[in-house]
Amino acid sequence: VEVTRLIKPREEVISFSEVGGLADVKKQIRKKIITPFQKPSLFQRFKKKVGGGILLFGPPGCGKTLLARATAGECNATFINVVISDILDMYIGESEKKLHAIFEQARQNTPSVIFFDEIESLAAKRQHTREATSAKLVSQFLSELDGFAQNNHGVLILGATNVPWALDPAFRRPGRFDRVVFIAPPDVDARTDILKGLLKDRPGGESVDAQKIARLTSGFSGADLMNLVETAVDEAIDHSIESGEEVPLNQTFVKEALKEVNPTTLEWLTMAR
Ligand code: ATP
Repeated sequence: VEVTRLIKPREEVISFSEVGGLADVKKQIRKKIITPFQKPSLFQRFKKKVGGGILLFGPPGCGKTLLARATAGECNATFINVVISDILDMYIGESEKKLHAIFEQARQNTPSVIFFDEIESLAAKRQHTREATSAKLVSQFLSELDGFAQNNHGVLILGATNVPWALDPAFRRPGRFDRVVFIAPPDVDARTDILKGLLKDRPGGESVDAQKIARLTSGFSGADLMNLVETAVDEAIDHSIESGEEVPLNQTFVKEALKEVNPTTLEWLTMAR
């Protein structure tokens, strides 16, 4: 079975340093996920169970995908990014085959990380499940996950969702997505970090006071901050075209952009309450 079309082309390898903030989460992932993944025999000797999947949840745009990619990067693992809606859109019977092929590909390319984004589209509680999501596909997915203990050595399974409350509890049983990690919106220090990363290597980027902007962007996700910087960059480019010479980025452009870009995490946090 040809699986490559479902899997995004191998993306650039990144490490934790490219993920702004989330220091505690990185520490937890390093200790509880990466180390057991790299030293399975030590854990076996202590009869400590390893394996199972990890569910990342939180508002959109706060780095779940980025963190999954970076986790693969930190383990030197193949990263397989699966878009569940692509599988669901296939003919009945085909989707089960694809899903199996994805797990097989991961097993053959260890160490590997399979990342299932928007896992709720597969794992929604029965009443929310799309007509098209066959019960067969769901049980296939669960048995591939359960296969973890036997033949998923070297395969790390990460899932992400913005709507954890919509998940079928069957997905949260031991050995499945039994560990859950909250990916919070960036706090002021994390926003400073993220902004610095977004501003570096841009003309005039160093003249922008990242800390000051971070204080003005409470509730912004990493993706919102990226939007903000891109909007400011557009301004600088427009000015450059108009004046015929390079007009570098500056604080004013970013402040102007602030009038256009709004935070998106607050709504999610209200919903999650
Ligand atoms: P979704 O729930 O919508 O899938 P997500 O939580 O997976 O969102 P990402 O796709 O990881 O979010 O983030 C979108 C983009 O926002 C990233 O590619 C990155 O440019 C930026 N970004 C988000 N969070 C961070 C972060 N913590 N550090 C640096 N950049 C970030």
